[in-house]
Amino acid sequence: MDAQRFKVSANVGSAGRLTIDLSALRANYLRLCATVAPARAAAVVKANAYGLDVARVAPVLDAAGCRDFFVAQYGEALELKPHVSAEARIYVLNGLLPGFEGDCATRGIVPVLNSLEQVENWNELAKARGQKLPALLQFDTGMSRLGLSMAEAVLLAQQPSLLDGVDVRYIMSHLASADEAESPQNAAQAAAMREFAELFPDHQLCFANSGGIFLGSDLHGALVRPGIALYGGRPTDVIDTPMQPVVSLDVPVVQTRTVPAGTLVGYSGAYVAKEERRLATLSVGYADGLPRSLSDRGAVYCDGVRLPIVGRVSMDSLIVDISDLPAGRLKLGDHVEVIGPHQSLEDLAADAGTISYEILTSLGRRFQRRYR
Ligand SMILES: *Cc1c(COP(=O)(O)O)cnc(C)c1O
Repeated sequence: MDAQRFKVSANVGSAGRLTIDLSALRANYLRLCATVAPARAAAVVKANAYGLDVARVAPVLDAAGCRDFFVAQYGEALELKPHVSAEARIYVLNGLLPGFEGDCATRGIVPVLNSLEQVENWNELAKARGQKLPALLQFDTGMSRLGLSMAEAVLLAQQPSLLDGVDVRYIMSHLASADEAESPQNAAQAAAMREFAELFPDHQLCFANSGGIFLGSDLHGALVRPGIALYGGRPTDVIDTPMQPVVSLDVPVVQTRTVPAGTLVGYSGAYVAKEERRLATLSVGYADGLPRSLSDRGAVYCDGVRLPIVGRVSMDSLIVDISDLPAGRLKLGDHVEVIGPHQSLEDLAADAGTISYEILTSLGRRFQRRYR
């Protein structure tokens, strides 16, 4: 059945099947556009489009009308460029390391300037070339990660020569707590952003990430920067996710067994069967991005039945208790659900004590990837 609907890209055999629904990705992008209009939505495609393959993801977003793409590192911008329209704008969130300015300017890639040093390097290059060069200016509104301080922003506002070679496309900042709607940090950062904006009244704002988009239009600015919401993650805790799931993961059974009470299971015998149990060993482990913190905590699903992970997650396998399924239901080569209708990406991340972002960007290279 699969050959028609899916393009098989890699690994077959005992690997799990990672399905990436590109039509859901497109729907999520259009949904975000509608939510923020008249502001526009960019797409954050850093870290290989959150692990989903930028070469597959970016053309879909481009075809849906996205013309603004954010990556974190300059090398990612080079990787992205062939996969988007010629007129698409590519921004580098971390800005440039010294020595890459000339190449970046020649290729028309737009750096985010986060420090006075990055401003100076870009401005000098512009003057040396006798042209204005595009950039975004980032301000630190309270995350203490990237961006200019208020004192530095005041300096730039008072000495226009420091920026006279720079075509500032947007002023931007990033929210530290947008996934927690009730956090007072959101309002504090919005207030700080307004102060920065007063220093640069002629410039448009680029502010909200996925979470910020759902916290109200005062956080939007003119251009929003969603990442995780595009890929089906939950943007913030106030709402049930309005995004369509993009990723599903099924993994195969490689062995089943029945064990008597007292049997030690997995590394270090960390789990001991209290009574007779039926177990299945699955061909997936921490090398595939299922964190070891799921040991004795997470679960997979079959026919909607929860199958708890027992004992330690190994590198290439893990063991689940299948006693709640009818005997004989699972056999060699059958697949069970790790991410899908019964267990969302967020559920899995919560069991692992992490966030959906880390799960997505860790999903391994051994899976058979299918793009729908
Ligand atoms: C990663 C990132 C985003 C996207 O954040 P999501 O929470 O995935 O929407 C936006 N802006 C900046 C500066 C980022 O680093």
